[in-house]
Amino acid sequence: MDHKKETRQFKTEVQQLMKLIINSLYSHPEIFLRELISNASDAIDKIRFKSQTDPNILGQDTEFRIRIIPDRQNRTITVEDNGIGMTYDEVIENIGTIAQSGTRAFLEAMEKAKGKDSLLPELIGQFGVGFYSSFIVAEKVTLLTRAAGQEKAVRWESSGDGSYTVEEAEKDSRGTAVTLKLRQPGDDEPDYTDEWTIRGIVKRHSDFVSYPIVMDVERQEPIPDDQLIKDKDGKPIGSTTRTVKKQETLNSMKAIWTKNRTEVSEEEYTEFYKHISHDWEAPLAHLHIRFEGTTEYQALLYIPSRLPFDFTLRERRHGIHLYSKRVFIMDDCRELMPEYLGFIYGVVDAPDLNLNISREILQHDSLVRNIRKNLLKRIFDLLENMEPEKYEKFFSEFGAILKIGIPTDRENRERIAKLLRYRTTKSEGKFVSLQNYLERMQPGQDEIYYITGDNFAALSNSPHLERLKEKDLEVVLMTDPIDEWVVQHLGQYEDKKFTSAEKGDLGLDKPDDKKSGEFSGFMAFLKDELKDLVKEVKPSTHLKDSLSCLSGEAYDMSAYMEKILRATGQKTQPVKRVLEINIDHPAIANVKFVYEKDRTNPVLKDYARLLYDLAVVAEGGKVEDPSRFSRTIGQLMAEAITAEELMTGDAIEV
Ligand code: ADP
Repeated sequence: MDHKKETRQFKTEVQQLMKLIINSLYSHPEIFLRELISNASDAIDKIRFKSQTDPNILGQDTEFRIRIIPDRQNRTITVEDNGIGMTYDEVIENIGTIAQSGTRAFLEAMEKAKGKDSLLPELIGQFGVGFYSSFIVAEKVTLLTRAAGQEKAVRWESSGDGSYTVEEAEKDSRGTAVTLKLRQPGDDEPDYTDEWTIRGIVKRHSDFVSYPIVMDVERQEPIPDDQLIKDKDGKPIGSTTRTVKKQETLNSMKAIWTKNRTEVSEEEYTEFYKHISHDWEAPLAHLHIRFEGTTEYQALLYIPSRLPFDFTLRERRHGIHLYSKRVFIMDDCRELMPEYLGFIYGVVDAPDLNLNISREILQHDSLVRNIRKNLLKRIFDLLENMEPEKYEKFFSEFGAILKIGIPTDRENRERIAKLLRYRTTKSEGKFVSLQNYLERMQPGQDEIYYITGDNFAALSNSPHLERLKEKDLEVVLMTDPIDEWVVQHLGQYEDKKFTSAEKGDLGLDKPDDKKSGEFSGFMAFLKDELKDLVKEVKPSTHLKDSLSCLSGEAYDMSAYMEKILRATGQKTQPVKRVLEINIDHPAIANVKFVYEKDRTNPVLKDYARLLYDLAVVAEGGKVEDPSRFSRTIGQLMAEAITAEELMTGDAIEV
């Protein structure tokens, strides 16, 4: 292949991100080293995992290590690993772009946080931007990498100014070396080529990394007697010591999960979390467990403080790392943690596991299943006993994901249901548990009323709730798309059935048969007018103040469900709903009056349509013909004013 060198532009997002990182992390410059070490350690994890099935891939280079090479004269620092390396395309893919789908959301959040500088590091922390943090301290970054099994290497270089170059290169060993050309440090700034500065940072942030982090250090050692230059009296001339280079390992590699809980400080727990999660914020909670019994294993699990912007269930990246006797087996071991807890990070070390275990075998391994079961139990215990404020924070970040457990994990459904929190018509904007709801039920109430929709404000003012509110019945307001499935799969909580406030009759009051009878002709007229839009028109059991609303029959798909399915691109037959009319409302009595006087009055068509459109508007929908809608309202207002004027006798001059 011909030697090629290309200059490429960073994606706009990357440019924006780099600027943000540099501007917002200048007060924590030293973390660049942790990020590079973490990446190096991940790259070694990867080759180690591969080598279990393909031992030849390692060749002669079997001693895993991460090397730090400071160069005081040239003001550079290099972090070098013998991990998996990257191919040409991988470099462009991983380093030149930010593939995560959350980039936009992230940048928007950053934009919003402008002016609140203290928030920036937190926000950035949620976004894995590790490598780019090099530009906090470096004026130029060079990455030289050779992927395992490849002859050619790749050199990537950038000054962080919008473009980078990539070219083929030579490198005699597998892995990646990242070299930072450091900016001139300011007066109070540390010198990152200084041995003790580097040692301090490694100790603080990367002590538990499970591969040796080595560095050549200069030491004075006595010159052996037979090598000393001596005068005629046998006295040494000049110095009796000389400078030698020695390689030292800077980290203890002590796996903190194997320690006793009392031996690990809060700080160590946090640093370890940051290492495995690539999160820069401290976790919300951790769980350090040692199981002893027929099989023994240890686990150290973390719940992050926030859901990362780029979190998607399919692409989640690190998850649970599986070890056996402190030897890394694999990362993101999905067999140990269900999808709905996929945001949990941690390590599980199970000495009885076979080191060469493959992902396929893991799925059927009874030990793995047993571990998973116990971990889940402990996680539920932790969440159930969390102090309310902390739990609220947890739920607002992860609740929507946790809910996936209701339809997918039958075995733990009840425990998950206990953890659910919702706002209700009586919770004053706060999240409450279903247990709270049960405790507040009216005497004789057998059902849990709920309504689903995408917007809390529209839901809490929905006309469907008018009757329920009048009777002082609490309604759970559900705003996550997944809630529809949650309710379907739960069916009930304790022994109380979930009942939709917008579907079917609520059975609260017996309809007044006589009055309904008086309206039957008018209802039939409306139904005929609106036959393309609704399947039925009937007196309402929901309404008190509003004129009309749309409801489903008990087994119909809810309006929200229909909207979700349509938004996800699924074709659904629009479900025709029932138009409910509030026959106790004076306006309805008036329209009926007009109808009885002259059934051919053209204004009736407009009124019929208006009753339908008002129901659509009330649930936050869009009317099909807004101009007709506003014209009809306009006319009505004009008529109302004329009527009032006639009644009071005040003439309005026009
Ligand atoms: P993160 O580490 O959070 O994924 P980075 O920006 O630090 O984000 O790195 C982006 C990607 O580049 C990594 O996911 C990895 O695929 C690749 N990468 C970075 N450093 C190395 C390395 N030393 N060896 C191999 N691949 C690396």
